[in-house]
Amino acid sequence: FNNELQRSEKMEIISELAASVAHEVRNPLQVTRGFLQLLAEKQQNSDKVYLNMALEELDRASGIITDFLTFAKPEAGKVTALNVLDEFIHIEGILIPLANLQGGKISVHIPKNLYVQGNSSKFKQAFINIIKNSIEALNGEGEILIWGYEEEDSIMIHIKDNGEGMDKEVLARLGEPYFSNKTKGTGLGLMVTFRIIEIMNGEIHFTSEKGAGTEVVIRFPSVNQEEHFTG
Ligand code: ADP
Ligand code: MG
Repeated sequence: FNNELQRSEKMEIISELAASVAHEVRNPLQVTRGFLQLLAEKQQNSDKVYLNMALEELDRASGIITDFLTFAKPEAGKVTALNVLDEFIHIEGILIPLANLQGGKISVHIPKNLYVQGNSSKFKQAFINIIKNSIEALNGEGEILIWGYEEEDSIMIHIKDNGEGMDKEVLARLGEPYFSNKTKGTGLGLMVTFRIIEIMNGEIHFTSEKGAGTEVVIRFPSVNQEEHFTG
């Protein structure tokens, strides 16, 4: 009777399972990576090739955890009114070091009084996956602008980068599982983002031009929407 389960219930079960798996698997992965790295540094012969391949595969596994489960927590089902600025302060803290590594700049302009309904961990995961793509699209120098505002009964968030951009064919495939144009990509980032935004009754829209950059617009219902209607 599997298909009688609501999609959101299924997601709930999957994300709880995934959260426990992520927590259990992350540490042994890191420990194994450390030992392999040590061995690889010591080796001079052809074994070094195998050790480096093993390291790359471990990094691929960690990439999947990052795109999927950075913020997965067993209690991740809790839904509250989220202050958008507070969430973005956390997100910025995590992503600024990564942006600096790529020679990119992030600037965030969000007013203090914006609220959306959702789960804090999932919200952060959704936006980290979007912004990480922007960072990765900046070749050398570049800028990511993030701004938010309220418009009628919606909260709007824009993320704009002047990175490599996408053509129509890539745009059409965003969110498709395992669709990636990166050598170390998982192709899971936007799939996760799309699902989270859908669960939050939001919408996401990409516009992009090859060579010019990408703008992502996300719309959520305002938290007070119901109150406006019922007076
Ligand atoms: P991954 O990042 O692991 O490749 P994603 O689902 O996050 O998987 O993204 C899928 C693909 O969408 C990327 O490989 C990239 O080609 C494209 N993409 C997404 N966001 C951007 C962006 N801001 N600029 C350019 N390309 C992007
Ligand atoms: Mg990605």
